[in-house]
Amino acid sequence: MTVKLLVVEDEPAIQELIAMNLKQAGYSVLCANDVTTAIKLCNEVLPDLILLDWMLPDMSGVDFAKKLRREARTKDIPIIMLTARTQESDKITGLDAGADDYITKPFSPRELIARIKAVMRRRLPEMSDEIIEIGGLKLDPVMHRVHAQIGNDPQSIELFLGPTEFRLLHFLMIYKERVHTRAHLLDRVWGDHVFIEDRTVDVHIRRIRKILEAAGKENLVQTVRGAGYRFSVEKNDEVAD
Ligand code: CA
Repeated sequence: MTVKLLVVEDEPAIQELIAMNLKQAGYSVLCANDVTTAIKLCNEVLPDLILLDWMLPDMSGVDFAKKLRREARTKDIPIIMLTARTQESDKITGLDAGADDYITKPFSPRELIARIKAVMRRRLPEMSDEIIEIGGLKLDPVMHRVHAQIGNDPQSIELFLGPTEFRLLHFLMIYKERVHTRAHLLDRVWGDHVFIEDRTVDVHIRRIRKILEAAGKENLVQTVRGAGYRFSVEKNDEVAD
């Protein structure tokens, strides 16, 4: 999955340098010179992460970060503040405003990319490429493959999931043992600007269970009555549907 970054920076040379390096690193990059443009871009497509300069012409980066955190649609977007300031109190102001990290100019492209990766790992693990293995299921996000072990058999079988089922299972496995409401799953798995009914989630959950049944692992995806769904290796008496 291509990670979409929004760079909000009013100095053309710095903006260009950042954008060029991030594109080379495989990110999809949008740029804004000011907060007004950044808001417009966010209304169209929600970025996965925002690189936000502190000093901008129409509103400070700190105030924009606060605004993003106040609004339901943008409150979870990871933010890295870019600034020339080095004082400790400024760092605290940025983090208080809701920034996830802070990088001081001048910085090397390598450092910037390392910081982006660290924030993404912490905040958006579902976008990570790491293979995930739980309860005899092994999911590979790069190869888009799921393998299941049956009982103690060291040989595994491949399970074939559709793209939505794959993303949903990946999300549930990453946030294992946590209960997710249907609304939360729609937000995080189906994405922004999608208006579909909660029942859609149930349909895809049923499909996943049906596929997992082939390996006797349907109980890994559990219904928590009145709350939602979770992936768990613990037994659950509530399992229904
Ligand atoms: Ca600036």
